[in-house]
Amino acid sequence: MQYAHVNADGLPISLPVGKVVCVGRNYVDHIQELNNDVPDEPLLFIKPATSLCDMHQSIQIPSGNGVCHNEVEVSVLIKDRLCKASIEKIQGAIWGVGIGLDLTLRQLQDNLKQRGLPWERAKAFDNACPMSPFIPVTQIDDLTSLSFSLTVNTEKRQNGNTSFMIWTIVSLLSEISHVFTLMPGDIVMTGTPKGVGPLNVGDELTLTLADKLQIHCQVEAQ
Ligand code: ZN
Repeated sequence: MQYAHVNADGLPISLPVGKVVCVGRNYVDHIQELNNDVPDEPLLFIKPATSLCDMHQSIQIPSGNGVCHNEVEVSVLIKDRLCKASIEKIQGAIWGVGIGLDLTLRQLQDNLKQRGLPWERAKAFDNACPMSPFIPVTQIDDLTSLSFSLTVNTEKRQNGNTSFMIWTIVSLLSEISHVFTLMPGDIVMTGTPKGVGPLNVGDELTLTLADKLQIHCQVEAQ
């Protein structure tokens, strides 16, 4: 089914569907669990619009390429074009905030990394970006202290808070807009905390964003 942005009532948001800009290594605890170095600038990559799918439908993981890891991430829906934008311009250009999964074929990614190749085969495949509805930014008290979590079956696997980000949401969006223009309808995924691990067909997932969103879904084969 074709993806479209929706609000928490399931109603369409009148913004086009665009690219998804992702940030790697924005939480120190996750950098440590994968033995990566703390970067001196945000590590950026893009998932195409075709990777987006509605989290409420199901989570579909591909087979034949090793384990598929969960990465739960606070996701920001862009309302206004941002090009080389100052920090002051950012807040007003955000439509809202949701929760997304940056699904990652970890063994394939490790293999690509070792060979110095791009990650798209591991992160940009169809349905690699299940996305929640979005909460309007006006209903969010503080972007710098948003809690979020992922529970897999009965195990709380990821438990994050944006207060532990290396780069805040606002500074990330400004930095990204100096690299590539963010367009209305684009999404920025702001990095994952520790707790990445393999998903299996049949797993029941619960994702939360503060007291604003709670989503249940199931993992299926692609
Ligand atoms: Zn990620």
